[in-house]
Amino acid sequence: MTWGRTYSEQRFSPLDQINDANVGELGLAWYFDLDTDRAIEGTPLVIDGVMYLTSAWNLTYALDAATGELIWSYDPEVPREWGGNSCCGVGSRGLAAWEGRIVIATLDGRLIALDAADGRPLWTTQTFSRDFPYTITGAPRVFDGRVLIGNGGAELGVRGYVTAYDVDTGEELWRFYTVPGNPADGFESDAMAMAAETWNGEWWKWGGGGTAWDSIVYDPELDYIYIGVGNGSPWVQAYRSPGGGDNLFLASIAAVEAATGEYVWHYQQAPGEQWDFTATQPMIQAELTIDGRERRVLMQAPKNAFFYVLDRETGELLSAEEFAPNYWASHVDLATGRPVINPLAYYDTEPVLMTPAPPGAHNWQPMSYSPLTGLVYFPAQEVWMPYARDPNFPVDQPRGFRIGNGWGGMLGPAGQAAMAAAAGRARGWLTAWDPVRQREAWRVDYSGTGSGGVLATAGNLVVQGTVDDTVAIYRADNGEKLWEVLVNTEPAAGPISYAVDGEQYIALNAGMHGMAGGRFGGPPVARAGGRVLAFKLGGRAVLPPLVETVTLTPPPPVPDVGDEVLELGNAAYHRVCAGCHGMRAVGGGVIPDLRYMSAETHAEFDAIVLGGARAEQGMIGFADRINEAEAEAIHAFVIARANEDWEAD
Ligand code: CA
Repeated sequence: MTWGRTYSEQRFSPLDQINDANVGELGLAWYFDLDTDRAIEGTPLVIDGVMYLTSAWNLTYALDAATGELIWSYDPEVPREWGGNSCCGVGSRGLAAWEGRIVIATLDGRLIALDAADGRPLWTTQTFSRDFPYTITGAPRVFDGRVLIGNGGAELGVRGYVTAYDVDTGEELWRFYTVPGNPADGFESDAMAMAAETWNGEWWKWGGGGTAWDSIVYDPELDYIYIGVGNGSPWVQAYRSPGGGDNLFLASIAAVEAATGEYVWHYQQAPGEQWDFTATQPMIQAELTIDGRERRVLMQAPKNAFFYVLDRETGELLSAEEFAPNYWASHVDLATGRPVINPLAYYDTEPVLMTPAPPGAHNWQPMSYSPLTGLVYFPAQEVWMPYARDPNFPVDQPRGFRIGNGWGGMLGPAGQAAMAAAAGRARGWLTAWDPVRQREAWRVDYSGTGSGGVLATAGNLVVQGTVDDTVAIYRADNGEKLWEVLVNTEPAAGPISYAVDGEQYIALNAGMHGMAGGRFGGPPVARAGGRVLAFKLGGRAVLPPLVETVTLTPPPPVPDVGDEVLELGNAAYHRVCAGCHGMRAVGGGVIPDLRYMSAETHAEFDAIVLGGARAEQGMIGFADRINEAEAEAIHAFVIARANEDWEAD
């Protein structure tokens, strides 16, 4: 009934009808086409034989969980231009259910309660001011008549917070800010006064960041809420908090009282955060025996490549070990709880090539814990990217990315070389992690990054969508591959398992995540749109074949505009376009790689980029951020990049 199955969010199913002895007989029971090819990140819920799920643009569905037949659908009509405030796609990671209601949280900040029987909206609450570029992509959590939601937007300039609402009325109950506001306005709580001691300058003018855009976990034993807090806004601390400071509660897990939102404890993973190292990644609650003692723990494998085990009662750090290559910090000092950070990670205007990087060693993709094997399963990755302070940070830029990192410093030869070097070094794998011994038990290597969230079951199974456009199932105890099926897309979301009338199903929302997929960079490939897939033993349904074919046309010749215009295009591209379409115009996944634009797209370039001709697909017009000369320069830069790479690819 809840995201992660229970409040522990272990994503462990006790069902064992489908198991390591018979999984070879698994087949497709049914599929349901979602009306989008944008980000598919949501975990469905199944309640009394009905599956509830939410898709890109928060299109919400109720399906018969045994047949896939549509019961109702609801479109909250998210304004497509709000997608321009989204750093990382227009998906939603899920919904919440409470006593006959389904609660969704829309990209543009509305919390909407729907009647679970027919999808009729019961109440709507706007959770943030539309004067600021907030978004919501996380799943609301519900407990004890209260529904919790955070928000995103730290790349664009906002102040993070989490709010609890009455699930009957939508009325606000409490709000916990994750970073302090302007001291002159008075602090909302003692916790904010304490946090403000760790900031310098006039951070509130930037927003400060710390957005809680994904993981928010309820602990019914201690009556606490654990909030995963995001990165700083802007990224570069020299702009955000000149003179340094830890900048609480950035990159922290914060525990608050569930009833009141009052601060209890926090653990900060990245003091003075300036690498986009969010602590928003999924958290799992479990009971582990550590050094002979039963501990109630919270586990997280965040972007910074350390696997953390914390005591949930006190926030004490019990252990932290790296699960992926880590250039940022050598280790975490258990006496102080602080990472021992590589001095080279404190970048200035010279690009520093690092892993982990903003995409993280593990991102939002759900992880699972099997109490039977004692292992935690999650997709890990090694991604390198350069960081550099932008000396020409446009402080008065009205809209769009305001991170202060990079692009200015990346435009020279050193930055270009660092970006090119990073591109070829990405690796991805499924890891099975022993949280007590803090070491990898087994892994499955993939052809690239981008494999999806993970489910573990009592049938000794681990289920995952893969970068190779498949759903794969492994033995939970040793990683042996037992079953795999081609699904014509790269499922990123977390699978679930449920039973209807005594028959077990394994299901997932199959579609790519909002940022680049595993095949980041490269010619477009034919792929299925978003789709719900449900499997059962003896299932005989068949997916329709891919009908779409992709024709590649060589790029037009580079226009004779001169180096100065190409440089202008480079700078404007990296300021406005790179966030979605990728650095150096190497993009992919659900967002087109512009090096492979068709002749029609080239012809319509200005109408699209300035005029918003494809706003309905989420590509808004940027006439408020760039002028015609910049649009022309961007076009020339992209064509030049296409010609550089055409033969290489
Ligand atoms: Ca971020």
